[in-house]
Amino acid sequence: MAIYNLEGKVALVTGASRGIGRQIALTLAASGATVLVNYCGSEEKAKAVVEEIFAQGGNAEAFGFDVADDSATEQKVADILAKYGKVDILVNNAGITRDNLMIKMSEADFDQVVSTNLKGTFHTIKHLYRNFMKLRGGRIINISSVSGVMGNAGQANYSASKAGVIGLTKSTARELAARNVCVNAIAPGFVASDMTDKMSETALDNAKNMIPLRRLGNPEDIANMAAFLASDEAGYITGQVFCVDGGMQM
Ligand code: NAP
Repeated sequence: MAIYNLEGKVALVTGASRGIGRQIALTLAASGATVLVNYCGSEEKAKAVVEEIFAQGGNAEAFGFDVADDSATEQKVADILAKYGKVDILVNNAGITRDNLMIKMSEADFDQVVSTNLKGTFHTIKHLYRNFMKLRGGRIINISSVSGVMGNAGQANYSASKAGVIGLTKSTARELAARNVCVNAIAPGFVASDMTDKMSETALDNAKNMIPLRRLGNPEDIANMAAFLASDEAGYITGQVFCVDGGMQM
């Protein structure tokens, strides 16, 4: 059952073909938003998310583009605005890892992670900036990570990109506050997804030992926070970072 009312809102969720983004898309749609499901490589999975949303009585469409590609993002955002007229809720969720100890980390792996996680977030915000100014309202929700808050050995590229997302969030929040746009970040801890499936059994056990609540998060744990931040009820919250991590970083 939906807790928040997002009827009449249009939401763009990047990286919504799988994992956390998929669940955010389903939850926003269940709350009444029309959801634009962005994907990069997983077209079939994105279409399955759209079908699932229609099956639950909602409205959605898939839009494929690589958020790291500025001109592709600009073009697709223009297509979205031409068709839907506005985007009320932007969730920057698309993200990748290329983990390694820094001594073994290639420049290409550093650049690719920063291009997707940090510059990708900049690209969508930049191309929707006028849209938000005109709306005089709306929400931007950026998915950071506890790695961006605490740092993490083996994730110099990833934690730098996610710390950058926090700085970008706060600057955007200050720029758009006068237009009544609320901009916040969610910093998930370890959440069960394809991303954490790549971790070894030992790494997962070590991770669980660092989490006071002693379990990995579910995509729903993150999606519920995103739905709250997207709602009218969160209209006095901006520039904040919410760690949804089972208490890991306290
Ligand atoms: P995931 O299961 O690996 O899914 C990643 C999603 O991002 C996919 O939908 C993928 O789309 C999309 N994506 C990747 N590169 C893209 C690009 N260049 N352009 C557009 N979409 C792109 O990851 P997840 O675990 O759900 O993570 C989602 C977000 O939460 C990420 O930002 C991640 O850093 C963050 N996070 C995750 C965890 C965790 O423990 N899982 C913890 C903290 C933060 P395609 O498959 O279509 O390419």
